[in-house]
Amino acid sequence: MRTTPPALTAAQMARVGKAIKRLQRDLAVDDGTGSLAGSFADDAQANDVRRLLSALTTAQARIGELEAELRSANEGYARLGGRLASASARIEALEGERDANRAQAIHLTAKLSEERRFKREFEEACRAEVVAVDAAMVSLRDELAAKTEFVMQAEAALTAARTRAEGLEAENARLRMLLCLRHHATAAGLYLDDGELQCAACGIDFKRMSAEDIERRFADNGRRELAALTPPPATTGEEAS
Ligand SMILES: [Zn+2]
Repeated sequence: MRTTPPALTAAQMARVGKAIKRLQRDLAVDDGTGSLAGSFADDAQANDVRRLLSALTTAQARIGELEAELRSANEGYARLGGRLASASARIEALEGERDANRAQAIHLTAKLSEERRFKREFEEACRAEVVAVDAAMVSLRDELAAKTEFVMQAEAALTAARTRAEGLEAENARLRMLLCLRHHATAAGLYLDDGELQCAACGIDFKRMSAEDIERRFADNGRRELAALTPPPATTGEEAS
């Protein structure tokens, strides 16, 4: 709250001024000379009145000066009051801003803490996953090594089996040729051009027919030859027609 020192109002000042003027007029003193002589009992009394008026005039001037100083001081107080009010408003605004910043800081701190916690958990999960993946990698590497070893062994076995099969195939072809060449006393009726192994007499293709079919054909041919060599059974009267 702004306080102002007591000051004479303009009306009070006017009243003081009028009172002094009235006193001067009543005493018929305008310049301190002349008419005073007949108004007072002696010069001493006139001089006393002069001193009193002089003092009053001085006092009036002094009061005017003080009034001006007070007016100036009042204006200064008013300016200070305005600046104080402005400063108070500014302080209130700054306090509001500070409170808002504090709330924001609390909010951001909580958020940061939450994010740090999330980051820490995420990192822990990642580390666990890396460990698990590493273990799986080791396991897979071992498995791969075992399978590679197995494949190498299987390839070696396959190569050996292929070599063996090729040997058996060559031997089979050689045996088929020997069988073809020796299943008769002579080579009559054999067709051996272009790697063929066919016997026109037996109707056997030694190159293509299975061993089972060749065997069956031999048996059929043998039965036919035997039947051709065996004389027909004697007929009886009962059976003749
Ligand atoms: Zn034959």
